[in-house]
Amino acid sequence: MKFVVYEVREDEEKTLRRLEQEHGLELVLTAEMLSPETAALAEGAQGVSTLGHSVINREVLEKLAEMGIYAYSARCIGVNHIDLNAARELGIKVANASYSPCGVADYTVMLMLMLLRKYKPALWRQQVNDYSLGGLMGRQLRGMTVGVIGTGRIGLTVMQDLSGFGCKLLCSDVHENPEAAKLGQYVGLDTLYRQSDIITLHTPLLDSTWHMINEWTIAKMKPDVLLINCARGELMDIAAVTRAVEDQKIGGVAMDVFENENEIYHHDRRTDILKNREMAYLRQFPNVIMTQHMAFYTAEAVDSMVKCGIESLIAFHNGENYPTCVTG
Ligand code: NAD
Repeated sequence: MKFVVYEVREDEEKTLRRLEQEHGLELVLTAEMLSPETAALAEGAQGVSTLGHSVINREVLEKLAEMGIYAYSARCIGVNHIDLNAARELGIKVANASYSPCGVADYTVMLMLMLLRKYKPALWRQQVNDYSLGGLMGRQLRGMTVGVIGTGRIGLTVMQDLSGFGCKLLCSDVHENPEAAKLGQYVGLDTLYRQSDIITLHTPLLDSTWHMINEWTIAKMKPDVLLINCARGELMDIAAVTRAVEDQKIGGVAMDVFENENEIYHHDRRTDILKNREMAYLRQFPNVIMTQHMAFYTAEAVDSMVKCGIESLIAFHNGENYPTCVTG
């Protein structure tokens, strides 16, 4: 079996080579994106895989089908870049990847603690031999009320992690999760906004969640509230968040994601002129932590994504199903 693996990152190579040996495959690895122009690289292969940057539109899928390739995998969770209807029409099986929610949950708790202990300005001071304590007094997590919005895979794991810290947990979701109900109290969003000291977002981006953190919802929150967003940048109206940081209504914000982060996050843009003003302005506050969409990025998660990417192609080639198949 020969598969062409596009968009290969250096950190994926070891696992790819291991799987190649284990399953007796021929893997062609390339850093190129899959596009109508590069599809020819897959001539003679039985399957192709990409990360989430290649646009897998009808044209690309038709090229694959013309070459007799009916197995495609995305080594990421998102499938917005794939024309799934076209894939179904052409009879191409598509799989995405899955990985444990623990890494993102760890990261979420880390951001909460970093905000609570004013770790960002403390780190800045260390760099210039300033060992003073002024302005660095923190707060402890025990006894705080944490509101978790979205109690799916990651939200639930955050609640499980936090239950060891002695916090009061509130949560809100359109579907109640019995496991989460054992750890915290389901309340309406209004109550969660009004009562939480820390609010953490774990919903997908939907019409109903777009800009859910906005001027009106912030107005309901407690003074000094801490906001954590390890989900999707678009859940926050960043202009409203920025105003609330300026007005000191919000005590701190930690964001691993940002609206319009594409083309910026995961790239080295040091010598480029960036036009995301909101990002540049918000970043300078001592109580705002921003990271480059890396909460998922652990050795365990990368290993799992690569495994799904290759094992799904093997299953499809053998006429079998795969748990992360998204074309049915
Ligand atoms: P999930 O599908 O398991 O859970 C999402 C939950 O949100 C579900 O329980 C759903 O019912 C709930 N929900 C949907 N609409 C809602 C609403 N209007 N109000 C309240 N709850 C609502 O998803 P997950 O795997 O836990 O991922 C959660 C988020 O984390 C997603 O936005 C995902 O894109 C993001 N994510 C980020 C990273 C990262 O590296 N920062 C990594 C993985 C996932």
